[in-house]
Amino acid sequence: MALDRFGRDIHYLRISLTDRCNLRCVYCMPEDMHFRPRADLMQDEELLALMPLFTGMGFHKFRLTGGEPTVRANVVDIVRGIAQTPGVRSLSMTTNGLLLKQLARPLAGAGLQRVNVSIDTLDAAKFKRLTRWGDVHAVWEGIQEAEAAGLTPMKLNAVIVRGYNEDDVVDLAALTLRHNWQMRFIEMMPFAGISEFQQTQVVTAQEMRDRIEARLGTLAAVDGGRLDGEARLYRLPGAPGEVGFLSSVSEPFCASCTRARLTADGKLRMCLLREYEIDLLTPLRAGAATGDLQALINTAVWHKPWGHGLAHNAVPLNRVMSDIGG
Ligand code: SAM
Repeated sequence: MALDRFGRDIHYLRISLTDRCNLRCVYCMPEDMHFRPRADLMQDEELLALMPLFTGMGFHKFRLTGGEPTVRANVVDIVRGIAQTPGVRSLSMTTNGLLLKQLARPLAGAGLQRVNVSIDTLDAAKFKRLTRWGDVHAVWEGIQEAEAAGLTPMKLNAVIVRGYNEDDVVDLAALTLRHNWQMRFIEMMPFAGISEFQQTQVVTAQEMRDRIEARLGTLAAVDGGRLDGEARLYRLPGAPGEVGFLSSVSEPFCASCTRARLTADGKLRMCLLREYEIDLLTPLRAGAATGDLQALINTAVWHKPWGHGLAHNAVPLNRVMSDIGG
C-alpha cells in the first residue's frame, strides 16, 4: 500500500500515453501548441517496465489519458500489456472519442474495461468552436461503438466554458433521461499560458446545477451526496442515468484524492494543479534498479501535496492540461 504523509492510500494512476491530440480545445491548450519530441516520451517497453513497480506498491486502478490516448501508435498492444500486468484490477481510458469507431472493439478485446468520452456540447457548430476543429458526429458514433463493444458503464465528460457552452448543460444532462449513462460536468481549471481565460470564463458546479434544475427538475443526490471518485452524483426525476459534477475549483475534493499521474515523458506528478514531479524515465534509461525506482515512487507519494492552491491563486505554470494527462 502506498500511503502519503496524510494517510491517503494512493492507488490510482492516470497514465498519459502522449501529449499529442487530434483536437485543440480552447480550455486545454493553445492553438499553436508545440509537442515534445517523440524520443522524450516513454517508449512502449519503458511504460510496460514501470507497470509492475506500481502494482507491486499497491496501485491497482489505472486510466489511460493524454493528450489523446487513441492517437498513440500501438495503443491496442499497450492496453493489452497493461491489462495483463498482474495486480491491475481496473483499466479505463479518457478519450475524445473521435477514433473509437475503429478502436472500441480492438481496445475492449485487449482488456480495456471502460471509457470516459469527452463531449462538451451536442451542437455541431459549438463543438467546432470549442475544439477548434472537431466533428461532434464522429464523437457520437464513437460513443455508440464503445457502448456496443461493452466499454460500460458509459461516462461522458463536459467542460463548461462561459460564452461557449453554459446553456448546453441542459441538453447534455437530458441524455441521462434516455440513457443509462453518467454525464459529468467539469469546472474549468487554470494552467500555464491560458489561465486568464480559464479563470474568467469558469462556470461553477452550482450554476450548472441551477441551470439544469430550472429546466429538468430537481437533482436528487445519489448515495446521500457522497463523492464517487471525483464526482458528486445526482439523478433527474425518473432518469436511468446519473449527472455528476467535478467541482475542483469551487468545492475541492483533495482530502479524498487517491491519484497520481504519470506524464507521457515519464514524470510522476502527484497533483494535477501543483508543479511537483519526480522523474522516473531518466533513471529507468540509466539502468536504475527496481528498488531504486520504487524508492523514487515512494518519495513522490510521500510528498503528495495536501491539496491544490487555486484559492490562493497558485496556478501550475510548468505544463498545460494536455501535457500532464487529465
Ligand atoms: N483527449 C482526451 C479527452 O479529450 O478526454 C483525454 C485528455 S483530456 C486532457 C482529459 C479531460 O480533461 C477531458 O475531459 C477534458 O475536457 C478535460 N480538460 C482539459 N482541459 C481542462 C481544463 N482546463 N479544466 C478542466 N478540465 C479540462
